[in-house]
Amino acid sequence: MRPGISKTLLKKAVSFENKYFKDYGLNGGLRHLFSTISRCKIVVVPPDEFQREGVAGRYKDTEILLSSRLVGEELDQVLLHEMIHYYEVTASDPQNGTRYLIEYLSFYLRDKLAAQLPIKEIIEYEMYSMVPAHTYFLILMSIDLDLKLNLQPGTIFNYGRAKAWKRFCGV
Ligand SMILES: [Zn+2]
Repeated sequence: MRPGISKTLLKKAVSFENKYFKDYGLNGGLRHLFSTISRCKIVVVPPDEFQREGVAGRYKDTEILLSSRLVGEELDQVLLHEMIHYYEVTASDPQNGTRYLIEYLSFYLRDKLAAQLPIKEIIEYEMYSMVPAHTYFLILMSIDLDLKLNLQPGTIFNYGRAKAWKRFCGV
């Protein structure tokens, strides 16, 4: 990918939003409270921009930054991960009175996912290994996306979690 603002990636993010981020709680009645990803800017940056942190994407203010080395499935997964950061930050904004959304959604997702996976064990494991800037909301939302996309739980969270959580989730 060429460095710079990417309209193609923003289109991809909007299609992900329509496919994967619109079925949360209250029969989807919460969707209007989230900021749409179309308000976000997606910027492709040279890989060395992230070298020090060892990551391939980052969310900052109203921008998602993605490394130009990303392609294929990995690109999609990093984009989805950064989209969760975007929703979390925009929905937690006390200015628009939607702070409670993240708490509500965490409860909603915990109940939904606990029916399928050992969520309690994963959360307990993360108490000791959490990556800074990541929250339980991000864990839960990323696992929900893993299941929607038929991925091993932990794939979208990344940081080696698909492997680390196998002890709880099986293969
Ligand atoms: Zn992250």
